[in-house]
Amino acid sequence: MEVKVVERILKANDAVARSNRSRFDAAGVLVVNFIGSPGAGKTAVLEQTVKGLRGRVALACIEGDPYTTRDAERIAALDCPVVQINTQGGCHLDASLVSQALDQLDLAAADLLLIENVGNLLCPSQYDLGEHLTVVVLSVTEGADKPEKYPAAFQRAQAVIINKVDALALTDVDLDAVTAAIRRFNPQAAIFPLSARTGEGVEPWLLWLEDRVKAVR
Ligand code: MG
Ligand code: ZN
Repeated sequence: MEVKVVERILKANDAVARSNRSRFDAAGVLVVNFIGSPGAGKTAVLEQTVKGLRGRVALACIEGDPYTTRDAERIAALDCPVVQINTQGGCHLDASLVSQALDQLDLAAADLLLIENVGNLLCPSQYDLGEHLTVVVLSVTEGADKPEKYPAAFQRAQAVIINKVDALALTDVDLDAVTAAIRRFNPQAAIFPLSARTGEGVEPWLLWLEDRVKAVR
């Protein structure tokens, strides 16, 4: 019985996700869903992406957070249109929350919409938001075992950002081991080791994303 309830919720979610995707496609906007643990640096990656692509691409953001508006304030400080979704303790975004946020955005004015999911590697990977691309943000301080522990998130991703490479020397983590662990579950994903703090390695990520925006425009 329990499983049937979950299936029904996910089917309802998929229907709303399809409607979101039609809205995105009608507006000609590429949508990226960022999934990662709390503290992986998702917001810092969004900040670098907004700073790096502004002037090249028209951006908008949706920030998912259990309670606060801290992350949205960081994006708003960069003069990027942003809507905060507070899940009131909920541990993931779903398609209907995103649909409500879309009502507050001028989608037609955007080329690229970045959605920061709630910090969590588990259930965000089960909920389609209607996005075109899923990006997992993993930080080196989380160790090399995350792909094995949370395979669904990594399998779904078109790209994996390995953040905080500037902190590698403080860890026992080997970048090649992290890359190999990701590859075991997703041989195709583009992998970007970078530091959102220092900016090291950010440009290849920006170019990859900009190419995808151009393909939609
Ligand atoms: Mg954040
Ligand atoms: Zn959840």
